[in-house]
Amino acid sequence: MTRSADHFVILGGGTAGWMAAACLSRLLFRVPGSPKRVTLVESAEIAPIGVGEATIPSIQDMLRYLNIDEADFVSATDATYKLGIRFRDWRVAGSDFFHGFGELGPTIENLPLFQHWLSEKIAGRPVPPLEALSMSAQLALNNRFAKPKQDGNSPLFMAGYAYHFDAAKVATYLRDYAEAKGVKRIEGHVAEVALAVDGSVNSLRLTDGRDITGDFFIDCSGFKGLIIEKALGSPFEDWSHWLPCDRAVALPSQSIAPLQPYTQVTARDAGWTWRIPLQSRIGNGYVYASRFCDAAQAEQTLRGALESQPLAEPRQIHFTPGRRREAWVKNCLSLGLASGFLEPLESTSIHLIFANLFRFFDHFPRDIDSAVLRQTYNDRSVREIEEIRDFLILHYWASARRDTPFWRYVTAMDIPDSLGAKLEAFRTQGKILADYYDLFKPASWMAIYDGMGFTPKAPDPLADLVPGDFSRRVLQNVTQGIRQAALAAPPHEASLAALLRRP
Ligand code: FAD
Repeated sequence: MTRSADHFVILGGGTAGWMAAACLSRLLFRVPGSPKRVTLVESAEIAPIGVGEATIPSIQDMLRYLNIDEADFVSATDATYKLGIRFRDWRVAGSDFFHGFGELGPTIENLPLFQHWLSEKIAGRPVPPLEALSMSAQLALNNRFAKPKQDGNSPLFMAGYAYHFDAAKVATYLRDYAEAKGVKRIEGHVAEVALAVDGSVNSLRLTDGRDITGDFFIDCSGFKGLIIEKALGSPFEDWSHWLPCDRAVALPSQSIAPLQPYTQVTARDAGWTWRIPLQSRIGNGYVYASRFCDAAQAEQTLRGALESQPLAEPRQIHFTPGRRREAWVKNCLSLGLASGFLEPLESTSIHLIFANLFRFFDHFPRDIDSAVLRQTYNDRSVREIEEIRDFLILHYWASARRDTPFWRYVTAMDIPDSLGAKLEAFRTQGKILADYYDLFKPASWMAIYDGMGFTPKAPDPLADLVPGDFSRRVLQNVTQGIRQAALAAPPHEASLAALLRRP
């Protein structure tokens, strides 16, 4: 007998819970009289984590899917544009590089332009800095903003953008969306998860005695994984030997002009600080390893990094990096922090919520008990988070810093074999082993390799097949075009004002 998923119950009203509710309502309530139902349970006693202010371009897929108007969203969530991430002091103290969204030049003769750039660099010929090939980086570093263009003749074709926003306002925005579409919200504190005889979830028991039954449960209860771990026993795989940061202290401060259209991350003695400009304040935080730094030291470092007056008391947050061994077990899918967490260095957590929701939609079961869909979903979501994990580890392991115990640890630690293979391919022959489905494309890996001072011994062999003077001409034309387009774009604040129709 098949069991169909008609009633979805979401536990948790943080970013993950309301994203799931909004997207499910869009998926399931398309036609009037749909037999499907969605209920979300959240506790007023447990506040959502509330951080999560920087995104990557895939956030636009969510807005498009939900048919959300960009101006309305940006206005309601205190958002600014984000063109990438500026890394300061990562390779060594004083170093500075940019990981821009989008491409590093067009594809020339089957190879991205940055491979021709690398070939020139390896040959010892003068080349511009790598970020001259990034449309997004040139816009960001000149404090300007323009949207990507579909027109392949414009350098803006190669740009990409995302947003910085207030996570609490985003959750409220999505809640309004989901409730308007028919999602039922229940305020209550889940005291117990009741299981059926076959071990699947039957209901959520609230402290006031109510019993919330459903067919399919989505666990968005945050780090504790109330259903997926506490009731269903799916273990958590701890990655702190590779990513030793396990704490953050967050402290917003007053806004200061100009509003930079990028996230700034600065390497510190035991981790790194973030600086995220929203319209009305700056989000600041220090992500650190408690093995190498205590809470008081971390707070002092963060206060020292502030560029404006703090607006609140600092908030300490504990976390464990890693992933849920099986994110989908029986009739429960975990999302958000309940399914795993990677430090926010490349702003990937909110992306993963959306990506996993869509992966679930691709594997939406006719029969909840279909093991093959569950298994495929689990395998694919592991592959994605492991690739992101490797990318983050690279940011530490590749650094030339040796100045504190933290940096000595992360630059000497063993790395996953998967990352070792990628490094070898790059170092010996300039190859970037990124899969079509990987979140981080070759341009992203290249930005970090180069920012950390890695140059291959030999270039990609395909670059040898293109005459050098042709590559040099293209490089010059493209970088010139990018620079001109960046300087012709309006300042970031003017672009925001135009979107919001403010004078
Ligand atoms: P939570 O926000 O913790 O929500 C849990 C929900 O479950 C709450 O509503 C709570 O009330 C409910 N709940 C829990 N227990 C019960 C119970 N017993 N009964 C009823 N309800 C219950 N991501 C990014 O993409 N970009 C970033 O820049 C970024 N920065 C971050 C910085 C830090 C320091 C941290 C820790 C995370 C950051 N993240 C970032 C991750 C991002 O914050 C999370 O992915 C996102 O907020 C999702 O959280 P969540 O909804 O899974 O959990």
